[in-house]
Amino acid sequence: MAHSQELTPEALADLRERYRIERERRVRPDGTRQYLSAGAEFGYYAADPYAGEPAEREPVRDRVDVAVVGGGFGGILAGARLRRQGVERVRVIEKGGDFGGTWYWNRYPGIHCDVESHVYLPMLDETGYVPEWKYAPGEEIRRHAVRIAEQSGLRANALFSTTVTSLTWDDTSGTWIVTTDRGDRFRATYVVTATGTLTELKLPGVPGIEKFEGHTFHTSRWDYGYTGGTPDGGLTGLADKRVGVVGTGATGIQVVPKLAEDAGHLYVFQRTPSTVDVRANRPTTARDVGADHDGWARERRDNFLRIVSGESAEEDRVADRWTSSAGLLEKLLPSFRRPADRAAFEAAYEVADAAKMNEIRARVEEVVTDPDTAEKLKPWYRYACKRPTFSDLYLQAFNRDNVTLVDTADTHGIERMTEHGVVVGDTEYELDCLIFATGFSVGVSGIHSGRLPVHGRGGTRLQDAWATLGPRTLHGFTSNGFPNLIQMGGTQSAPSVNFTHVLDEHAVHAAALVAAAEAKGCLVEPSREAEEAWLATLAEDAPDHEWFHAECTPGYYNAEGRGRPNGPTAYPHGAFAFHALLKRWREESMDQALRPRTPART
Ligand code: NAP
Repeated sequence: MAHSQELTPEALADLRERYRIERERRVRPDGTRQYLSAGAEFGYYAADPYAGEPAEREPVRDRVDVAVVGGGFGGILAGARLRRQGVERVRVIEKGGDFGGTWYWNRYPGIHCDVESHVYLPMLDETGYVPEWKYAPGEEIRRHAVRIAEQSGLRANALFSTTVTSLTWDDTSGTWIVTTDRGDRFRATYVVTATGTLTELKLPGVPGIEKFEGHTFHTSRWDYGYTGGTPDGGLTGLADKRVGVVGTGATGIQVVPKLAEDAGHLYVFQRTPSTVDVRANRPTTARDVGADHDGWARERRDNFLRIVSGESAEEDRVADRWTSSAGLLEKLLPSFRRPADRAAFEAAYEVADAAKMNEIRARVEEVVTDPDTAEKLKPWYRYACKRPTFSDLYLQAFNRDNVTLVDTADTHGIERMTEHGVVVGDTEYELDCLIFATGFSVGVSGIHSGRLPVHGRGGTRLQDAWATLGPRTLHGFTSNGFPNLIQMGGTQSAPSVNFTHVLDEHAVHAAALVAAAEAKGCLVEPSREAEEAWLATLAEDAPDHEWFHAECTPGYYNAEGRGRPNGPTAYPHGAFAFHALLKRWREESMDQALRPRTPART
C-alpha cells in the first residue's frame, strides 16, 4: 500500500506518541475489575432466551464410556470423533438448550462468521456440506453444529440445560463421578472437557446500572420477543425506539448496521474504535472453493492455517484480509519468534504495521462523511492489539441521520446509568432500550478456573495442584494425578484465529488417547517427567510478545492494559506446527500418556 511511503522516522515517532497518549486515555486503575458478571441480581442477563424453562426430567444415574462437558464445537467434535472410532456411550452435557455453544448463545442480528466458512465449518468433507457464502450467517453455522452432532448420534444421550457441578475421580472403580445442577450423578470412564473460552458474558460495572427502567439485554442473549425480526434483520419492534448499544468490538461491528436499519434512533457508545477492514462477503459455488474431490475442505483449512501461523504456503486459497495481514498477526500468535537481528525485524514490523493502520484509518475517512465522526472512529493502536474486524456496512451506518456516535474515551466508558438512560460527560442519553455488546470474561471458562471443581487421584483439586506449581500438562490435554481426564482447547496447546480447526485437531487427539488406552488396558495419564518435558519445550522458545501487548490499548487481549500472564501458556511455534507435532507423537510416543491401571482396577 502506498501509505508506507509516507512513513518517515518522524512520522513513526509521532504515531508511537499518539498510540501512547490514546492508551493512557483508556487505561483504568480497576482493570478487569471494572466489569460485572451476570450473577445474582443481574442473573436475568444470562438466562437462556431460546430454550425457555427446561422440562422436568428424572436425574441420570447410569454409567457411560465418555462424558463430554460442553456441547459447542469442541464437545461435538470430540463426540463425533469418538463415535466414529466405535465408542458407544458418549454423553454430552451442555448448559444451553441445544448443541452449538457460542453459536447457540450468540444469535444477534447480523451475526456471521468472520473466518471464511469453508475453513471455519468443521467436518465439511465428512458431512458433504458446502457453505454458500464466503462468510456464513450464524444460523447456518449453528445448524451445521447440530448436523454434526446428529449425524454422529450424540443427541439421544445428551443432557441439555444442564451444568456439570463436579468431577470426582474414583480410584477404586477407575471412573469419574459426574454431578450436575439437575441432580444427575453418573459415572464415566473418561471425561473430555470442552468448556470453551469466552463463555461468560460481562457488563460494565457502572453506578446505577440496576436503576435503568428501559429494556436491556446482552448481545449473547438477544431478545427477539422485544425487537422483533431475526438474525437477518427486520427488527420492527425498534421502529419507534431510542436504542443504545455499548461496545464496538467484533460483536458491535456486526450488530450496529442491523440496528441502524431498524431503530428509531441508535446511539453507539464507543470507548475504543475497532480496526474495520474490508469484508467482501459474497456467494460462493462449490467450484469457487475447490469442493470437487475428497479432502478438499481439509486441504483448504490446512492452507489457511499455514498462512495465519506464519508458515510458507505455495498458494493462498482463502485470499482474504486475514491471510493478507498474516504477517501482522504473528505477534498475536504465540508463534512470534525471536529473529537473529531483532532490531531490524522490529523496525520492519513497525513500518508494515503503520502502513496497515494508515490504510484502516484512511478507509474511515473515505467512508464516513462527517469529519468529526470519522475522526472518532479512527483506531490509534497497532494492528491486532484488539481482535481485527471486517465489515462493509459498519462505518457506512454512521452516515445515517438516525445514528449518533457517542465517544466515551475521555470518561473511560459510559459513566453511569439512570432510570432513563446512559450518562456520558454532561449529557444524559434517554433510551427505551440498551443493548450491551460488552463481551465476555477471560480465564473463567476452563476447568483450571475452579468454577467447575475437579478432584483427581487422592481427592486433589486441579486448581489447587496448579495454584502451587502452575499449570502442568502434556500438550495441554492431560495431567498427572487426573487419570482419563482430557482437556480440549485449553492452556499449553496452540490457539489460532480459526478456532474450530484447532478444536477438530484436539478432538482427533482426544479420541486417539481414548483408543490407545482402551487398546492397551491403560489409563490416560502422563508421568510427571512427560509433563516436565512439555513445560521445558514451551519455555525453551517462549514467545516474546510481552513488549507488544504491554504497549497496546487496553482490552481482553492484555488484561485491560496490564500485559499477558506470566509463564509459557502456549506452544511457541503456532498451531500448524503443533498439530504436526501431535501427529508425530501419536505415531511414535503415545505410551508417554498411558499408565497401567491400578491393581484395584484390574
Ligand atoms: P469485546 O471484543 O470484548 O468488545 C467489548 C466492547 O465493549 C469493547 O468495544 C469495549 O470497549 C466495550 N466496553 C466495555 N465496557 C465499556 C464501557 N464501560 N463503556 C463503553 N464501552 C465499553 O467483545 P465482543 O465484541 O463480544 O467480542 C468478543 C470476541 O468474540 C471477539 O474478540 C471474537 O473473538 C469473538 N467474536 C467473533 C465473531 C465472529 O467471528 N463472527 C463475532 C463477534 C465476536 P474497549 O475496547 O474500550 O474495552
